[in-house]
Amino acid sequence: MVTEDFTRLTLDTLALCTMDFRFNSYYHDALHPFIAAMVNSLTELGARAVRPLLASIFYREANRKYWEDIGTLRQTAQGILDSRRRHLTGPRPHVEPVVYGENARDFVPDRMLDENIERLTKEYPDCWKPFGSGIGACIGRLFAWQASPARGDKHINIQLPDGITYKVGDYVAVLPFNPKETVTRVMRKFQPSWDSHITIGSNRWTALPTGTPISVYDVLGSYVKLSQSAIRRGILLADASKDEATKQQLHTLAGDLYASEISLKRASILDLLEGFPSVSLPFGTFLSLLPLMRLRQYSISSSPAINPTRATLAYSLLEGPALANPANRHIGVATAYLASLLRGDRLLLSVRPTHTAFRLPDEIESTPIICVAAGSGLAPFRDFSQERAVLRAKGRELAPALLFSGCCGPEVDDLYRDEFDEWHGMGVVDVRRAEEVKGLWECGARVYVCGSRLVKEGVKQVMGKIVLGGGATEDEVSQWYESVRNDRYATNMFD
Ligand SMILES: Cc1cc2nc3c(=O)[nH]c(=O)nc-3n(C[C@H](O)[C@H](O)[C@H](O)COP(=O)(O)OP(=O)(O)OC[C@H]3O[C@@H](n4cnc5c(N)ncnc54)[C@H](O)[C@@H]3O)c2cc1C
Repeated sequence: MVTEDFTRLTLDTLALCTMDFRFNSYYHDALHPFIAAMVNSLTELGARAVRPLLASIFYREANRKYWEDIGTLRQTAQGILDSRRRHLTGPRPHVEPVVYGENARDFVPDRMLDENIERLTKEYPDCWKPFGSGIGACIGRLFAWQASPARGDKHINIQLPDGITYKVGDYVAVLPFNPKETVTRVMRKFQPSWDSHITIGSNRWTALPTGTPISVYDVLGSYVKLSQSAIRRGILLADASKDEATKQQLHTLAGDLYASEISLKRASILDLLEGFPSVSLPFGTFLSLLPLMRLRQYSISSSPAINPTRATLAYSLLEGPALANPANRHIGVATAYLASLLRGDRLLLSVRPTHTAFRLPDEIESTPIICVAAGSGLAPFRDFSQERAVLRAKGRELAPALLFSGCCGPEVDDLYRDEFDEWHGMGVVDVRRAEEVKGLWECGARVYVCGSRLVKEGVKQVMGKIVLGGGATEDEVSQWYESVRNDRYATNMFD
């Protein structure tokens, strides 16, 4: 009883001090749904850590409950954030250009170096108090320091090698390295020393370098794709296990369960080896089951009219609990690699021409354009808009350009916001954001939809995701729709 009281006291205090949010745990017998969901999901995560990998197949109800709890956590957090954004008053010094310069909204980790923060707080004593003063600031600061790296959308500047240029709409192909975390998992499994070398025999065809010693770390880092879904032949490594039950389970995974448990969840050979420790596979066999590392493509988000030897990229960092085993992180190979680069680092890339249809029209004065993007899909349209802004500055007439941009909000994933606002003001491009719709909805807007049932269903799904957040499930959207239909949301169907 005493422990429960202290749990209530601690969590109520944290929520109140950091987010000005009241769980009011002493006013009710039952815990606030957020706390219940948090306790349940932590308990489930603890249980998962000791469960064999892929045993999740047998814990469907626990999985369902786990994701329901995660949904509750996200919904509460989103509600608090939305409410804080609505009620923000006065300046927000931690994102103000006057304090941090023109790139105030960019993710620049160097800002957080001690000497920079010290200098800034001397000049602007309150600049680093996103959670206010006193106890709120003390606890909130920790949350804030984690908040900036959590931003998923990023931007990188590349100086191209001499003689390499590009055209509007082009993209680059990047050769990435596997995340250190994934390479470490392999090293842990096979236990070679970090500096060991192998020589790959040439008796069977392989695209890997043969007949010459090569470091294990290099092979794992840059030659092979470690996170590829396991192929059936690989799963039948069951024969390498002495344990009959394991053999049986692996045969089922290569058979009836292949689509749902391997393909859909992108379970890799490494996942399987970790999940079935009784399988002992030679390192050479493991390598032979992996495909070669593949290039990743990124649209150039700058116009050569600004500087033909510099290209910028915008990318969404892919990172989250792995589908095959939420105790592991799924890390996007190329995006994690791009995010790890520091100023002055070199990367291997080539410039590729885009297909002819994805170029700006030649008759820029008379052919209007309509662009639709979500998240980092905005990249080529920044390139287009930069180009159009340069042409406008040179006095060229421009036909209208309309850009529909799907993003969750100005401080979440609204890439290049300031530039697009400026171009919008200059008449270079007319930008429409999902956030506008959300803003109007929150001001009590009524929605009217007229047309076919197909239109009704499509608009319902999109509106639901705008109002509830991109992660809302179909069920959640339906529940929301039922709660507003014939009240604030009217439809008139023609079929
Ligand atoms: C012409 C072109 C232009 C492009 N331009 C851009 C651009 O400008 N910006 C941009 O960001 N991207 C762009 N892309 C996409 C980009 O090439 C990459 O595919 C993307 O960045 C992901 O690469 P990654 O290596 O980080 O992820 P990968 O390591 O390849 O991982 C992606 C794979 O992981 C799977 N996956 C996702 N979540 C999980 C999970 N939780 N568990 C298990 N598996 C999971 C996905 O299904 C997907 O198959 C472009 C693609 C093309 C073809």
